[in-house]
Order: sequence, then structure tokens, then C-alpha cells
Amino acid sequence: MNKVGSIEVITGPMFAGKTEELIRRVKRLEYAHKNVVLFKPQIDDRYEKSYIVSHNQKKALCVSLKTSQEMLNYVNEETDAVVIDEFQFLDEDAVDIAVYFKRKGKRVIVSGLDRDFRGEPFNNMPNIFAYADTILKLTAICVCCGNDATCTQRIINGRPANYNDPQILVGASETYEARCAACHTVVGKKYKYE
Ligand SMILES: [Zn+2]
Repeated sequence: MNKVGSIEVITGPMFAGKTEELIRRVKRLEYAHKNVVLFKPQIDDRYEKSYIVSHNQKKALCVSLKTSQEMLNYVNEETDAVVIDEFQFLDEDAVDIAVYFKRKGKRVIVSGLDRDFRGEPFNNMPNIFAYADTILKLTAICVCCGNDATCTQRIINGRPANYNDPQILVGASETYEARCAACHTVVGKKYKYE
């Protein structure tokens, strides 16, 4: 019988428990004695370089990637599952490589933000959604009103960020919040249909 691979995506805004869900699936694979390889882009060194860490401090050992092609060096015949956190920060080759792993019969589990602080599709995420066999969209809780939060609010120096603010702002104090669509504010954003 042929080994059939799959791509599973876990997505949503920040603080929705995406990494926690990712680690939950990794633990199940480990209980089943599966051979699992974990990756994340090196840009994310919030806590520790070689771990995937959720906001509630659950963690799993992983490989930090400078480019998505480096994944090819760690995945072989023996690998049952490939797990990738913060997928939205990887280069566009990551999608083709995930599809390649699936074709090789691997279970590929991906976690990443669906939209950026502007509320727009985040880099390569729409493409991995198209190839996914399953997609789990998680929600957080809006810090303003308590509704289900589907958006990531960027705050710079205590105020909602401007649409044109660069991704990296040197010297500014920057935080993120989970907010519902009604409370999400992007200063200066132009909608095609107002
Ligand atoms: Zn709200």
C-alpha cells in the first residue's frame, strides 16, 4: 500500500494557542514512537533559539532555519512527520518543499498567522492553505470587548499602528494584542469597498 502524506495547517491571530496545538500534536506523535522533525524560521527568537515555545511556556526541541531549503538536510526515509512553526516568516520555497514532503508520504504539520497586523494575507500562508488537507482556524479573546478575536492588533508607543509603519521599527516600544474584527484598528488603511 502506498504511503499517503498530508498537510495540516493550524492558523489564526496571535495568542490563539496555535503553537500549543502544534506541540499537542507533536506529543501524540512522540507517544506513537513516530520519527518527527521540527523547524522554525530563525527570525523568531522570542525565547530560545532551538525550541518551539508557546506563550504558556510549553516547548519542543527544533531546528532553526535561515532558508526553507535547509529542511531538506534533516528529512529522510525514516522521517514520519515534519512540523513547521511560524510558517508565515519562511521564504516562498517553503510551500513547494511542504508539498514535496507530502508527496514523499510525510505528515506535514504547519502553524502560522493567517493575516498580518494590517489584516491582510500573511506572505505564503494563502498558498499553504490551498495545498492543505485540513485547516484549523483558532481564535483568541479580544482584549477590548471579550468577543472571539480573529485579528492581531499592533501597538506602537501605546497607539494602534499605521498601515504604512514598517515591519521593523527601531527604537519604538511595540506590542501586539488579540482583537475582534470590530475593535481591530489600522490607522490609514484604505479599503476597496468602504
Ligand atoms: Zn472586540
